[in-house]
Amino acid sequence: MKDAAQELLQTTFGHAGFRGEQAEIVECVASGNDALVLMPTGGGKSLCYQLPALLRDGCGIVISPLIALMQDQVEALRQVGVRAAYLNSTLDAAEAATVERDLLDGNLDLLYVAPERLLTPRCLNLLDRASISLFAIDEAHCVSQWGHDFRREYRELTVLHERWPEVPRIALTATADEPTRREIAERLGLEQARRFVSSFDRPNIRYRVVQKDGSGQRALLDFLHAHRGESGIVYAFSRKRVEKIAEQLQAAGINALPYHAGIDAGIRAANQRRFLQTDGVVMVATIAFGMGIDKPDVRFVAHVDLPKSVEGYYQETGRAGRDGAPAEAWLSYGLGDVVNLRMLINQSEAGEERKQVELRKLDALLGYCESTECRRQALLGWFGEAHDGACGNCDNCLEPPQTWDGTDAARKALSCVYRTGQRFGAGHVIDVLRGVQSDKVQRFGHDQLSTWGIGEDLDARQWSGVFRQLVALGLLEADHERHGALQLTALSGPVLRGERSLMFRKEAPRSTARRGSRSP
Ligand code: ADP
Ligand code: ZN
Repeated sequence: MKDAAQELLQTTFGHAGFRGEQAEIVECVASGNDALVLMPTGGGKSLCYQLPALLRDGCGIVISPLIALMQDQVEALRQVGVRAAYLNSTLDAAEAATVERDLLDGNLDLLYVAPERLLTPRCLNLLDRASISLFAIDEAHCVSQWGHDFRREYRELTVLHERWPEVPRIALTATADEPTRREIAERLGLEQARRFVSSFDRPNIRYRVVQKDGSGQRALLDFLHAHRGESGIVYAFSRKRVEKIAEQLQAAGINALPYHAGIDAGIRAANQRRFLQTDGVVMVATIAFGMGIDKPDVRFVAHVDLPKSVEGYYQETGRAGRDGAPAEAWLSYGLGDVVNLRMLINQSEAGEERKQVELRKLDALLGYCESTECRRQALLGWFGEAHDGACGNCDNCLEPPQTWDGTDAARKALSCVYRTGQRFGAGHVIDVLRGVQSDKVQRFGHDQLSTWGIGEDLDARQWSGVFRQLVALGLLEADHERHGALQLTALSGPVLRGERSLMFRKEAPRSTARRGSRSP
């Protein structure tokens, strides 16, 4: 078996040897066992089911949610002489009938099927009559309701082990925390399956988080200047932001192009081509950009707005440095981002349970942002992977952040929020704390409050950091019905009563955005 696999790897796929755990996975599945495979994007998951399908009798059925990727894969397989086909909504009846006939006649090695297609009575019946070598469930995290990519049809894939218990199954994903893994195993009947978990570490990527002042423009420009001439992606939250930032960067002399789903398809394709083919293009994009883009020399991925989850962040930053050369993942965020994202989630139409999931994901991401410890350790920990920390290639390792005892400042901030009636945003509360006169202060008589001017020891920027960390920690929250007015939460009490002490991150001085951003 081993020799046959090695032979196929070289003759058919043209690779000299296996990567990582590929050999073990291929052997496991080729000998008829089930497997659950976690491997980062680009790790080489496809071979893990393609080779066993070729080694076993019958046709391998691959369930894949992305029609475009399905077609690419089939195309590539055919070019190396593998008998591959797909069944999805892009085929007309006659084309589909040909594929069905080929399957029944034993003329296919691999058949890619969209999940909704597979679940039709017609397709289930077809598979009953065919000789099947294995089922491969790609993007298996789509079964998880907790995941960021949930697909209803994936829930129905329980049919695979119920209807064809003797056919081996291999589930693959690039993103799954422990609860998601459990859910995959449960839904797909893979509790007994061997698990193959590759390292998710990308040692050549340097992680860095900076706090933004105002719009974050200055910090972004500093960052981009340090990466002049390099290809990179700047991710922003909305189409509007993408347009605006792309314009600003162009005005600053940077070779930037916009990309989002609202841009005319022709222009979008042209921008993508330029990014892929020209050196030094900065693509300013929403997360619509990136799926299936395989450009090895992306030197940086910058987030100017908070991503929605740690998983999303890992996926997006993973597009940097595929060639193994040093690359940077940079994220800037501020109080406004935290407030906005929390409000958006609370305001959304989603059900209560879904909202709680989203809020927990945001909390995990904020935990990552505010962390004073090794970022790599935090990221990998999210994927259930242990790392000793001290990676030497993240901002916290390179320039250990200073912390300070913020217990007293937090109490002042929370009581000032309370005294001003929980009706204002951070800007006004900070004015009151620092004793800064303004129209608003006059109008509401806030210079008469007991908290007026009790925070003169910190400047506005430091206070802004205190509020950001309080919101990140859930000690304050923004009321979406009152335009983001800050309110106390159930967690505020112990801090106000002096029962809980807090350590805060010292705000970095403005200039550190550049320092050490390049590898020696
Ligand atoms: P994934 O699905 O995990 O993102 P792919 O299966 O698409 O990854 O593989 C990523 C790239 O790595 C492809 O270009 C593939 O040809 C290449 N690759 C996979 N396995 C090997 C190997 N053993 N040796 C060399 N290249 C490989
Ligand atoms: Zn580190």
